[in-house]
Amino acid sequence: MSTSSSSSPSSSSSQVANEVKAQGYAAFDPTSSLKPFVFHRRSPEKTDVQIKILFCGICHSDVHWVKGDWGPQTYPVVPGHEIVGRVESVGPAVKKFKVGDLVGVGCLVDSCRECGSCREDEEQYCERGGTFTYGSPDPRGGITQGGYSSHIVVEERFVLRVPESISPASAAPLLCAGITTYSPLKHWKAGPGQHIAVAGLGGLGHMAVKIARAMGAHVTVLSTSLKKQKDAERLGAHEFIALSGANDFAKSAKKFDLIINTISASHSYDAYLSLLKKNGTMVLVGLPGPQPVQAFSLVGGRRRLAGSLIGGIRETQEMLDFCAQHKIAADIETVNPEQINSAYERLLKNDVHYRFVIDLQAEAGS
Ligand code: NAP
Ligand code: ZN
Ligand code: ZN
Repeated sequence: MSTSSSSSPSSSSSQVANEVKAQGYAAFDPTSSLKPFVFHRRSPEKTDVQIKILFCGICHSDVHWVKGDWGPQTYPVVPGHEIVGRVESVGPAVKKFKVGDLVGVGCLVDSCRECGSCREDEEQYCERGGTFTYGSPDPRGGITQGGYSSHIVVEERFVLRVPESISPASAAPLLCAGITTYSPLKHWKAGPGQHIAVAGLGGLGHMAVKIARAMGAHVTVLSTSLKKQKDAERLGAHEFIALSGANDFAKSAKKFDLIINTISASHSYDAYLSLLKKNGTMVLVGLPGPQPVQAFSLVGGRRRLAGSLIGGIRETQEMLDFCAQHKIAADIETVNPEQINSAYERLLKNDVHYRFVIDLQAEAGS
C-alpha cells in the first residue's frame, strides 16, 4: 500500500493534485463480499492529520451497516471506525500531533462544534448531526470512508493520542468498543458497591467487563450459553450466568443495579429488565433493531431503560488514558485484509474472541 500524488484516474473519482491515494476494502451492496477499492483522501488541509493506518477493528456495527440492517446505505462504503495508525504528515496549523505519533480515530470525524452537545464535548450527540467516520455525508462532498484502508485524513480535533504502552493492534478496538462501554459505565457511576451485569460477551461486552472491573464494580456476565464462562473469569468477571430459558431469568430476578446491554440480535428486553433491582437501569448499547417493551417491565420496580452512543472526543481520550493506566486492552484475533469476509461470517456465528482486528499493512509484507 502506498501514498501517491500521481494524477492517474482511480476507481472512485478523478484525482486532484496531492490527494492521497488509499487502498481500501469496500462493500458495493448489502449482500456481496467486500472487495479491494482504490480511492482518494483529501490532501491534508491546515488543521488536518494524515495517518498511515496500521490496524482497524471489525465492529458488529460495520456488519449491520454493510448488510443494511439499519436501512438502505450508500455504496461503495469502506467500513471501519476502530483505527490506529502513525501520523504521516500534518497541516501547517496542527498543534497536537507530529509525524510518527501513534494516533487513533473512532466513530466521529466531524461535528458542528457550536451546538449545546458539541460545546459540552459530547459531539456524538451533535444536534445538527455529527459526521461519522464512514457512510456519512461528508461536508466536503461524497460520503465518508472508514478505516479498512491504508490511509485516512482527519482534522486534528477528532484524532486521539494512543498511549505507546498499549500494543497498537489491541488498542484499535478501544476506539469504539472501549468508549461505547466506558461512557455509560462512567455516566451511571459504576464503582464499588454497584452490581453491574454485562449482557452479551462479544467485542463490546468483553471491554465492558474489563472497564467495569477496573472501576471497582461487582461484575456479572449474562451470556447465552456456558461456553464463555472460563473466558469471562479471565477477563475479570466475578460471576457468570447462562440465560437460556424463563427459569434462568427467574433465578436472577432483581439482582442488578445496572445492565450494559451489548446484544446485537433480537432478544426480549422484558426478560432482561426483570433482572434489575428497584430503580435499576438497563442501558442499551447493542443495536438489534426495533424490539417491543412492556410497560409492566418498567413500572413494577421504577426501572429505567436507557441508551448510549459511543462517547465524545474528550471522553475517548480519557478512556484511552484510563486503559493505559489500568493496563487494559482488547483481546484480539488479527486478520489480514483477505480474511475480512470470513471474519464477518465468523462474527455472525458468534465465533470471535473477542475482536477481529485487520492488519492493514499485512498485504504490503511490512
Ligand atoms: P459482537 O462482538 O458480535 O457481540 C455481540 C454479543 O451479543 C455476542 O457475543 C453474544 O454474546 C450476544 N448475542 C448475539 N446474539 C444474541 C441473541 N440472539 N440473544 C442474546 N445474546 C446474543 O458485537 P459487538 O461488536 O460487541 O456489538 C454489539 C452491538 O453493539 C451491535 O449491535 C453493534 O452495532 C452495537 N454497537 C453500538 C454502539 C453504540 O454506540 N451504541 C457502538 C458500537 C457497537 P454471548 O455469546 O455472550 O451470548
Ligand atoms: Zn463500532
Ligand atoms: Zn454540534
